[in-house]
This record gives sequence, structure tokens and C-alpha cells, in this order.
Amino acid sequence: MSWLSDDDEDDDEFGYDESDVRIRPNPKGSRPRTKTRPEHEDAVDGRVLSVDRGRYTVMVGEDTPAEHVLTTTRARELRNDAIVTGDRVDVVGDTSGDEGTLARIVRIQPRTTLLRRSADDTDTVERVIVANADQLMIVIAAADPEPRARLVDRYLVAAYDAGIAPLIVVTKTDLADPGPFLANFAALDVPVLRSAPGAWPIDALAPVLAGHTTVAVGHSGVGKSTLVNALVPGTDRAVGVVNAVTGRGRHTSSSTVSLRVPTGGWIIDTPGVRSFGLGHVDIANVLRAFTDLAAVTAECPRGCTHREDAPDCALDEAVADGRLRADRVDDFRRLLASVTA
Ligand code: GDP
Ligand code: ZN
Repeated sequence: MSWLSDDDEDDDEFGYDESDVRIRPNPKGSRPRTKTRPEHEDAVDGRVLSVDRGRYTVMVGEDTPAEHVLTTTRARELRNDAIVTGDRVDVVGDTSGDEGTLARIVRIQPRTTLLRRSADDTDTVERVIVANADQLMIVIAAADPEPRARLVDRYLVAAYDAGIAPLIVVTKTDLADPGPFLANFAALDVPVLRSAPGAWPIDALAPVLAGHTTVAVGHSGVGKSTLVNALVPGTDRAVGVVNAVTGRGRHTSSSTVSLRVPTGGWIIDTPGVRSFGLGHVDIANVLRAFTDLAAVTAECPRGCTHREDAPDCALDEAVADGRLRADRVDDFRRLLASVTA
């Protein structure tokens, strides 16, 4: 079962698996782009929009009058490398995009971030799913399906660990008041937007998405496709029907694609990705999202886990003497706990 073919839409009979996907930063980080090799000096720069059975849809000349979309294949030397949605690539050959032409990807440019599925029983290889995203849009429903704090916690930790900025969009606010659920995240510095039929938060989202590559994630049935269709009219992400009994949705749109938002920015919809599992999260990365706490943890004993049961953790002291808010420290600890639970 390959994630690039995304044929496992409805396999969550026993509840979805939170350990199948994770985000992590590329160890190479934002290394400057290396020069195209001399033999490919005529290569053009492109953005991979979608992947389908060895064919890659690539946009070249982005934001110029020459912008167009090509069908490409990958060069032999890349046959062992996954090329995924969001990748920046160098393309050679016939890049006209004319009917019947097939250009060739000869290079994957260094990635700034990676979204991966971790290895599991059915697939022992870690697979990259999305490259170069800088925002994670966590879509949850106020009800149907019921929101779960632990799932959002895991998305948040994955985002922080990967250096991807999270935001939360709550759908179906016509069905329930998400206030009590959102209280779980009140102390976090994460933008929260609400949506309901006839009240899509498009105006609020447009400036948030402009200039960014945003991956949309959420459990099936939360209304992610509906939201993406509202943001990018004409994309036709198939809207599923939620089963009234199980609350589970059904998709027909099954591939991970990059969609351009008319008001600026890109959304990458990930229909097959229900949730993230987390590997070895670096607490230091998570602390980067809690700069106020990070400063205090400098006073912690060496090797402090900063968890509730950590002896002499400076976070407790800082709460006791009023330097930090208790709910902020609680949020941080809840996120850490969700990683190891
Ligand atoms: P996805 O699986 O997350 O992509 O969810 P879909 O976009 O397919 O939506 C699942 C179901 O929820 C569809 O029947 C939608 O019409 C419905 N839906 C989406 N957004 C809302 C909303 O804000 N309120 C209500 N009541 N239903 C919604
Ligand atoms: Zn500590």
C-alpha cells in the first residue's frame, strides 16, 4: 500500500491510527539552493503540484506571464528518491507543456520541511508526503465528529517540532459551541478561526494563507474538503457524507495536491492523512513555541524533563512566584504528555 496512491481511505474501522504520520524538519534545514549541475544548466525551476503513478504535475514560471503546468517524469538518477507534492524541482527536456510532451525532473531542491508517514506494520519505509510547507492548518469540527484535544495536541507538537506554524480552524460551529473545547488551547499562541455554513472564514483566512504553503489536516468528516472548496473555488475536492452512526466520513478525493488560493498562497490538501504519529520529538523544538517558558527552563536542573513529576523544575517555581501563568505551563505539559502517552 503506497501513500502516494492513497488507496486506504476507509481502513479506519477500529479508529484512526495516530502513529502513522509525522512531520519533521529536514536535517539539512534551509540550506541555500545549490547550483544546478552544469549538464542541466537549461533546467527550469518548478513546483510539484501532484503525484500520480510516476507522473508529476509541475508548475513552472510561477507568477510570471510564462506560468504553465507540465506533466513530467523523473530522471533515472532520481528513481530511488520520493518526489512529493510541494517539492521544488529542476525540470529539463520539453517544458512547453504541449500535448503529448513529457519533461523530466532532474533534481529535487533542498527541502525546508517534511511531512512524513512513519514506518508501521504495513509499510516499513518512512514516506515523505509533503515538502516545504510552512503552516499547518488543523481542521476540527465542533461536533460530528466530536473534537478530541489529544489529536489536536499531537498535531500541534508535530508542527512545533517541524518548525511549521500551526493554526486551528473549527468547522460546524452551527452544530455546537466549540468554546469549551477551545479552552484547552486558550493559553497557546495559535490563531483560531471558526466556520459554519454561509460563514466561511475566508476573509480572515486570506491574509493568513497569502505568501505561505499551508498543509490542511484533519480527521475525515470534519469538513476540510468543504472548506478547501470554499477557499479555492472550482477545485472540486469531493465532499463526503458523514455516516450518521459512526460519524466517519467517506472521501472520493484521495490524492495529496497543491491548490493555489486565489487571494495568494498555496493549500496542500491531504485527504489520506488523518493524523500524525510522533517519533522522537525534540523538546527544545517544542519549547520554541513557548518562548516565555523556554527562558525559565534555563534555570532547570540538568536533564530536567519539565514534566509535572520533574523534581525542582523551574516552571513550578515560576508559577509559584507569579512569573508564569499556570494554564500556560499546563498546556505545555499536556502537549509533552500527549507525545509519550
Ligand atoms: P472532510 O472529510 O473533512 O473533507 O469533510 P467534508 O468536507 O467532506 O464534509 C463532511 C460533511 O460535513 C459534509 O456532509 C459537509 O456538507 C458537512 N459540513 C462541512 N462543513 C460543515 C459545517 O460547517 N456545518 C455543518 N453542519 N456541516 C458541515
Ligand atoms: Zn524543567
